This record gives sequence, C-alpha cells and structure tokens, in this order.
Amino acid sequence: MTKRPEEIALLADSGQLLAQVFGHLDRLDLIGMSTMQINDLVDGLIVHELDARPASKGQYGYAYALNASRNNVVCHGVPSAADILQDGDIVNFDITLEKNGYIADSSKTYLVGEVALPARRLVQTAYEAMWKGIQAVRPGATLGDVGHAIERHARRNGYSVVREYCGHGIGREMHEEPQVLHWGKPRTGLVLREGMVFTIEPMVNQGRRAVRTEDDGWTVVTCDGQLSAQFEHTVAVTASGMRVLTLRSGEKKPH
Ligand code: MN
Repeated sequence: MTKRPEEIALLADSGQLLAQVFGHLDRLDLIGMSTMQINDLVDGLIVHELDARPASKGQYGYAYALNASRNNVVCHGVPSAADILQDGDIVNFDITLEKNGYIADSSKTYLVGEVALPARRLVQTAYEAMWKGIQAVRPGATLGDVGHAIERHARRNGYSVVREYCGHGIGREMHEEPQVLHWGKPRTGLVLREGMVFTIEPMVNQGRRAVRTEDDGWTVVTCDGQLSAQFEHTVAVTASGMRVLTLRSGEKKPH
C-alpha cells in the first residue's frame, strides 16, 4: 500500500497537470455552458495541451473525461448537452488524469454566478471538511482520525456526510486500497505510513445523508432533493505529515 519516492514524484507530476486543468476551469464564465461543453473542453486540454489521458474515459464503461454533479446531484453526474449551467447553481467537476502511467484525482465545486448564501455556506463547509481530513494525515494517525475530522466539521455546521462513496488509494490504478471513509472513530482503522497515497473526497449534504442512483445507472442524487457539495484532493503521506499532490497554484487552505 506504500509507494516509492520515484512513484510519488510521478503521481505529483500528474497531480500538477490536473491542477492546471482546474486553473482553466476557474477562468471560465460557466453561466449558459452545458456540462458536455465543459467535458469536451477538459478532454481536449488533457489530451492536446497536457499530452496526458483522461483516466475516467473507458473505465467501468464510462465515456467521458469528467463527472459534472449539479445542485442535488451528489456525484457521478454524466455530462450532457441538455444540462445547462444556470445562474445560482453549484456544480462539482470531478476529473482524473493519467500521465506516464500514474493517475491523479481531484474535484472542486464551483459557484455559478450569484449563488444564495445557504448554498455558498454548504460549499465552503465541504471545502473545509476536506481540509480537516487532509490536515489529520500524518504517519501514525489512522483513517478513523481522518474520517472523524471530516464528519465532525460537517455535523457541527448542520450538515450530513454521504457514506456510500469514499476516498481511495490511487496510483497506477484509479481505485486502489485503502478505502478512505469520510466518517469514523479517532484512533481506529488503518494506521497511516509514509508513502501511502490516497484521495480524500467528502460529499457533504445540506439535508439528510441518504442518496439514490437514478435510472441511467450513474447519477447519484440526494433522496431529499437538497443540495450536495464535494471537494477532492490526492494526498501522499510524508515522513512528517502530508503533501497534497493536486494542490492548485494560489489555492488557499482554510484557517
Ligand atoms: Mn476519487
């Protein structure tokens, strides 16, 4: 479950290319764009400008470079020309990129135009919850410590955390061991060791945590129809703490 320094260097290269993709998305005016337009833009960028591969394409029979999960969609939203981003929406873009055989995975929830305060507060809390998990990562800590830090922050703010989907080890494969749950008990679970690489990607719901999958077999939505927000980074355990391999230039860690 641990990777050699040269493997982590390659994962960091992939992570920095993926960070550039989000840098491009950050500069878009999303209002009026379809999620398929965003998919095509990201696909072209990864293949032609970054000379890399969108790792989700072809995996599990999925045809696209990203997942686009809008408002009450929790995760695995499928891009569509009919899904037009509207002023006031929140939308998560989840993207995986492979370069030189190593995969990085990251997602970010965007605010589309003028977003109402309750939705902004949810998005901010999801971002902070991801960082609470990241900041719990160090050798000797446990996955229970990580999950507990995430869920505690979400619950303190009045939100729930989805339990059906979790973070995961990552490397040559998109999904490797271990599973990284976004809830847990302190000092339980796998003990972290230098060289482990995994994602932390909490899905935080405005209402209840229950989710269901729509008839397309992909799109996961909240059962109560309320909003859901998610952020994801790929993280390596270092000798003294952690390194966020997908950190974006200028990205601010909260607090
Ligand atoms: Mn992931």
